Amino acid sequence: MQGFFDTCRILTFMLILAKEFKYLDILKKQKGGITMPMSADFQKRLEPILPEIIKCFGTPFHIYDERGIRQTGKRLKKAFKGVRGFKEFFAVKANPNLVLLKMMAEMGFGFDCSSIPELQIARQLGAQEKDVMFTSNNTSEEEFWQALKYGSCILNLDDISMIPKVPMWPKRICFRYNPGKRRTGNSIIGNPVEAKYGVTHEQIVKAYRLAKERGARKFGLHTMVASNELNYKYMVETVRMLSRVAEMVQNKLGIRFEFWNMGGGIGIPYRPEQEPVPIELLANEIKKILALFKAKNSYVPKLFMECGRYITGPHGVLVTTVINRMSKYREYVGVDACMSSLMRPALYDAHHTITILGKDDSDEQEVVDVVGSLCENNDKFAKQRKLPKTKEGDILIIHETGAHGLAMCFNYNGRLWPKELLLREDGIVELIRRAQTVADYLATQSFEPQIWELK
Ligand SMILES: *Cc1c(COP(=O)(O)O)cnc(C)c1O
Repeated sequence: MQGFFDTCRILTFMLILAKEFKYLDILKKQKGGITMPMSADFQKRLEPILPEIIKCFGTPFHIYDERGIRQTGKRLKKAFKGVRGFKEFFAVKANPNLVLLKMMAEMGFGFDCSSIPELQIARQLGAQEKDVMFTSNNTSEEEFWQALKYGSCILNLDDISMIPKVPMWPKRICFRYNPGKRRTGNSIIGNPVEAKYGVTHEQIVKAYRLAKERGARKFGLHTMVASNELNYKYMVETVRMLSRVAEMVQNKLGIRFEFWNMGGGIGIPYRPEQEPVPIELLANEIKKILALFKAKNSYVPKLFMECGRYITGPHGVLVTTVINRMSKYREYVGVDACMSSLMRPALYDAHHTITILGKDDSDEQEVVDVVGSLCENNDKFAKQRKLPKTKEGDILIIHETGAHGLAMCFNYNGRLWPKELLLREDGIVELIRRAQTVADYLATQSFEPQIWELK
């Protein structure tokens, strides 16, 4: 019998290996032919149907991949299986589309909210107290009132001065910790002294003491020291740092931590040469830290995480049509989307891979700026980028727009938000947000007249 099981195990292992090799093969082919960080699988399913989707919906639009999002969610949960109380709180700000957020709830994720409207969204989706983290910063007293009114949530306080501003002190409280200079004896975590977030190292014990005095009985410890970080060791060091701060606080105050929240910030490869974060390796390293903490303290807090980008980022693209080819001092590809639909390149000088439907690296190349229609010279999706030669009517696919894409839309120049589509697991493409209309744009200028005059 044992022999039979061993044979099965070996066969399964071989099957996994074969699958891995096939996957590597796809990747290799991609790197040779066309440079694409977007998932090979999404590309393979999207490109053949894209012309028909465009015929139906018109460009521009963001389109998301349900299968990819669910696979990433599954993979994350699997990697952290066995970690006590592990829970991902999806950062709503990364992609606040209700259909996607519903998917998050279905996967058992909670929500990390940074504002009252985001809390209302979470509430609308039926999230309970334990499913919602309210991580705001520079929060007003009014917002705390509303946060507690709009339903229970876990309050994550971003500053020691906010302690007296919290009305109706909850039983459960969390503080966001900002280490200032690195505290792990490891040079990996940088120097967040300039970050506006969190309670400082010197304030942290006092913060929990004050919370305890006000009746808090359940304690969480949160931090977020990295953003779009591809080096998984950053996150490992983050958890190590949390374990040390927790020990310091509990030794001084005799409290136990119900949970740690390691924040979001796991990066995704925006550039073809970048590698995705090895999430299983990350989880295994974190498990070691938790085991060590348990051995020393005879308990271990639950582990929370609040990634946005990692979950949806790679599973969305912005599809746009070339409407003008212009030759000035540079060559310009003018498209029908602009930075109001994807602000990251202009705001962070972020790189987003661009591919052209039906063309690849083997086609004739040229160096261009890809531009939108805003009266802003930083309205460029790419600067001096080598791309296959394009003409009017060609379709551009701008990659990795599943997080912090439409979420950051704005209306400058009267440019309206594009629509959002979902490529569902069953192959059907569904409109999940319509494009903005002029009426939407003008909506806030329709109101009851109101004046003030000096009496
Ligand atoms: C922005 C943010 C996140 C999500 O960041 P990602 O890069 O999308 O993972 C999570 N938590 C907090 C507090 C944030 O500010």
